[in-house]
Amino acid sequence: MNLVLFGPPGSGKGTQAKILEEKRHLPQLSTGEMLRAAVAAGSPLGKKVEAVLAKGDLVPDETVIAIIAERYDQPDCAKGAIFDGFPRTIPQAEALDAMLAARKKKIDIVIELKVDDAILVKRAETRAAETVAAGGKPRPDDNPETVKRRLAIYYENTAPLIDYYKKQGKLATVNGMASIDEVTKAIAAILDMAGRKGCLGL
Ligand code: AMP
Repeated sequence: MNLVLFGPPGSGKGTQAKILEEKRHLPQLSTGEMLRAAVAAGSPLGKKVEAVLAKGDLVPDETVIAIIAERYDQPDCAKGAIFDGFPRTIPQAEALDAMLAARKKKIDIVIELKVDDAILVKRAETRAAETVAAGGKPRPDDNPETVKRRLAIYYENTAPLIDYYKKQGKLATVNGMASIDEVTKAIAAILDMAGRKGCLGL
């Protein structure tokens, strides 16, 4: 099964992707995590994208498409993957469809986590404060100003994907403002139903 977890920054994609990874035994492919790891490692890619990430802007499509294609060809993705934070633009979604088609695969389902903006800004503040309280360094893009910028970028570049996947009949929407446990259950119910209908390529 190839699943896209879709939603604005702070909607809980990463949290739910990690839960799904454990329950469904599929790897979580988070472009955000891969890019942050490259920055932390000081690799050439990391040096190229560090300022872009700190500002909350989008990394060029061809960069993230190449990262995903390389990662998807690892053996642990043989049965599919959970895409988290990718695709974020229409060209990325088209490239993902083409990449999967070339491997005789497809996106089976897209789950959108819907969360109000005010809650997203609050969540980013809480996440940064908790990291500091635990003695860590918060993400440079988790301050209110940058979160607002990331949200504006989300609505301009990423939200059009809702229609893209709706037209493909693949979109399911979940209330991302419910508790983590309730969101997990709602996603499980959608996947179980889709599985029964034979929609998940399992
Ligand atoms: P995330 O952890 O998904 O919130 O991503 C953190 C940051 O990484 C984003 O604000 C972007 O700067 C960059 N990024 C992650 N995924 C993508 C993507 N698919 N396309 C472009 N930039 C991305």
